[in-house]
Amino acid sequence: MSPLQPCGTRAAYARHLYYGEEPCAECRRANADYSMAHPGNRVVAARARNVVRDRHRAEFDALLSAERRRSPSQPPTATYMSAKYELARIYDAEYRAVLADLLDKEAAS
Ligand SMILES: [Zn+2]
Repeated sequence: MSPLQPCGTRAAYARHLYYGEEPCAECRRANADYSMAHPGNRVVAARARNVVRDRHRAEFDALLSAERRRSPSQPPTATYMSAKYELARIYDAEYRAVLADLLDKEAAS
């Protein structure tokens, strides 16, 4: 298994968000640089964040905290898979960045 990407990368930025942390300065910079270079994604991501904040925040928080309480050995249920699918849809740009990073690691291993 490859090591986690360090702070100052988009993968680490997404990881901070996944764990409910405020992204650190290095990661915010990496994400901002990427956003400046990809303005279309920035609009999509901003809109997705507003949707979460305004309409789905409680549901999102409940799903995320339930997911964190799960034992890693439990098989994923349809509900958890649906939650991940929904997160991937809402955080489209972040999901694509994380997926691309993981696929790169897989190809390199
Ligand atoms: Zn960081």
